[in-house]
Amino acid sequence: MHSHEHRIDRFIGGQRMEFTRREFLIAGGVSGALAAQGWAVPQVIYAGAREGQADPLERTVMTLCRQCSGGCGLKVRVIRDCVVGIAGNPIHPINRGGVCPGAPAAVQSLYNPDRLTQPLVLAGPKGAGRYQPVSWTEAVRQLAARLRDLRRTTGPHGLAVITRGDRGLKRLLLERFLQAYGSNNLIDGAAPDAHQAYPAIRAVQGFPRAVGYDLAQTRYVLSFGSQWLDAHWSPAQAGATFAALRGRDQDDRRRFVHVEPRLSLTAAKADEWIPARPGTEGALALGLAHVIVREGLYDRAFVERMTDGFEDPDGGRGGRIGFRRLVLRDYAPSRVSRITGVEEGTIFRLAREFTAQRPALAIGYDGASVSTQRTYDRMAIHALNALVGSIDVAGGVTHFRDIELLNLPVPEPDGPAEAGLSKPRIDVADPSVYPLADCPTGMLAERILADLPYPIEVLVLAGGNPVFDSPHPQRVQQALGKVPLVVSLSSWMDDSARWADLIIPDAHSLSSWDVDLSHTLTGRPVVTTARPVVPASAEARGSAELILELARELGDPVSRALPFPTAQAAVRAVCDTLAASGRGGAFGPLEQEGWIRLLERGGWRPPAARSQDEFYTKVIAAGGWSDPIYYDREWDRVFRSPPRRFAFHSALIAQHVKPRNEADDVRCLPHYQAHESGEPNEAFPYRLYVYPLAVLAGMKDVNIPWLMDASGRLMRQRWNTWVEINPRTAHKLDIADGDVVTVASSRGTLRLHAKLFEGIMPEVLAIPYGFGHEGGGRWCEKIGQNPATLVDVEIDPLTGGPLWNSTRVALRKT
Ligand code: SF4
Repeated sequence: MHSHEHRIDRFIGGQRMEFTRREFLIAGGVSGALAAQGWAVPQVIYAGAREGQADPLERTVMTLCRQCSGGCGLKVRVIRDCVVGIAGNPIHPINRGGVCPGAPAAVQSLYNPDRLTQPLVLAGPKGAGRYQPVSWTEAVRQLAARLRDLRRTTGPHGLAVITRGDRGLKRLLLERFLQAYGSNNLIDGAAPDAHQAYPAIRAVQGFPRAVGYDLAQTRYVLSFGSQWLDAHWSPAQAGATFAALRGRDQDDRRRFVHVEPRLSLTAAKADEWIPARPGTEGALALGLAHVIVREGLYDRAFVERMTDGFEDPDGGRGGRIGFRRLVLRDYAPSRVSRITGVEEGTIFRLAREFTAQRPALAIGYDGASVSTQRTYDRMAIHALNALVGSIDVAGGVTHFRDIELLNLPVPEPDGPAEAGLSKPRIDVADPSVYPLADCPTGMLAERILADLPYPIEVLVLAGGNPVFDSPHPQRVQQALGKVPLVVSLSSWMDDSARWADLIIPDAHSLSSWDVDLSHTLTGRPVVTTARPVVPASAEARGSAELILELARELGDPVSRALPFPTAQAAVRAVCDTLAASGRGGAFGPLEQEGWIRLLERGGWRPPAARSQDEFYTKVIAAGGWSDPIYYDREWDRVFRSPPRRFAFHSALIAQHVKPRNEADDVRCLPHYQAHESGEPNEAFPYRLYVYPLAVLAGMKDVNIPWLMDASGRLMRQRWNTWVEINPRTAHKLDIADGDVVTVASSRGTLRLHAKLFEGIMPEVLAIPYGFGHEGGGRWCEKIGQNPATLVDVEIDPLTGGPLWNSTRVALRKT
């Protein structure tokens, strides 16, 4: 580890500032333990800039927090071009003034001495980490020349761009860029924290994106491995929603039950924690469904009118099976108890409680690869919502209405673009094998290595850190080593950027224009605008500026598809599109939104502004746009695919499976499959549970001393990776708290500190995910270990995506 007490020199607002690591932590407003435990985050205040002391050069800017994908709004206080305070935007519909520890950490990211501030070109073998600086203009010119050449020679389909599930300006511009250039390969490299429940929702409803959960109005929450108070969605929004769920008087207390192998922060805040074996939550949901169906506790009216596939197809003739008979036949609580480790009586009780207090909500894991939940498991969990009619009702599952962000015609492809767009995407899997294969990034490295379906010549890493995020980092490194030109837009020399030939660092999110489309848990669309709060370095610009400059360098037809001189002009075009939609308006206080809803109910909608200029000015000043109206019971919007009802028997899967018998039907229905790695045995007697760290998970920037320092506080660990062991297990192996132990799987071995913890099942060992970077800066590099190296990856049978399987491991004291 580097020494942390050396002095750090930075130029801030034209003034040289010099401080030690400790001062740097204080400048970031460190109060890690407090923040991690209660999300009580102080404002960031530098010495000499105290609240209430006006400075003539002081200003406040409403902007977007891009530390994670939560989509929160910020109120940033700036003095003389120096950020001195970060708080939540009080009128932002997602976080309403709240922030999680990630937001103030943006200051430590902005003024971080390890942040890359100018393009770098490889000056040695790939992976060796030797680079030399080059100007931004020269870097863009080099990349444009290679792209022009590729288009002329082997074809534009040889370009692939990996993002990290971006939903903002970068995504809008990249879509148009690639369409005009001629490549289908815009790939959402789902980070382990990305929202990945949507394939299950798509399977049963055809709804194409993540849904919301109206937790504030529900009466009973049953969360299956969904650590929604640790690291999902926006932790700031989840915290406020939890307060609303809890803030009722004692006589009207709503119940929250959490299922997980480990006592996470979410489990600790629940009324009841139910430990269940990793990867068995789907079986537990089906066990509950068994009791609900057998005892007739389901919402008959909803199931009869609004669902399909509950009963056997063809009226049971021809040996076909529907959801009702499947759960009654295969998921009796006695069997489910053996699979999950949850007592039979608890299964009966949970099913009865869940149906007795409506509206009730069942939430599955909303993250991606760190989860062991298959898409079938998530379908099973979501099926509970259908059984109690909690689809698109107050207190139930919400679905936000589409909103167009850029009203521009689709770019006309020229000859090379047409040829390129006729080629398949490189990450597409055979739908007869993976019926919902729209995010099979788990196999991307293998496909690049095998030139399937064709060689990739230029690969742009436009977000995320695929080497670190992958359970097979070496294969991703090999794939990056094989591609002739890898371009990284990372602002850090991170695990993936180290394999790039050219690095063109993105400007900091507080120094660039952007928009972000997200939604509240109650299903309202929210577009947050970002504007430069402080100037960027001369040699680092926002990725939107880079895409626009590249388009200009390439000329027609790409430049025609992106007719914006600047990123700000593109943001203005988004605002004009929103103004033309006639929906919503600039963020406003809650009372104003209530007033708009009242008027809307009376059939009258107040104009958001008198002109487009006024609309734009209002939206930028408020920090964004939102539509306060929720359009419920628009069933065609909620159920997008035939039969336009909730499909227990997924019509989408059936399109590919073409079911003719019971076994085929089971492939279309939620069901449980034992994990391929099998049960623990003599050589590997424990199950591994990898969980995302509350403070680090999902953060775009991790080289942040405050976040690193705070991330282990709940477990009283610091700057290291630990393994959580139940004291009963530890006692058997004579392991004491703090001992160094080895955890070994069939894939690898890690040496870790033992943390004895009652909150982990005795047969399970838990290791946090978030440490163990190979690059990225002094506060994250080679600190702790990455449990990905232990994980037995299994492929999700519906999406082809990777599952961080319930790996079997051995534990030894060293
Ligand atoms: S949840 Fe994410 S977007 Fe919201 S304040 Fe925290 S880091 Fe920022």
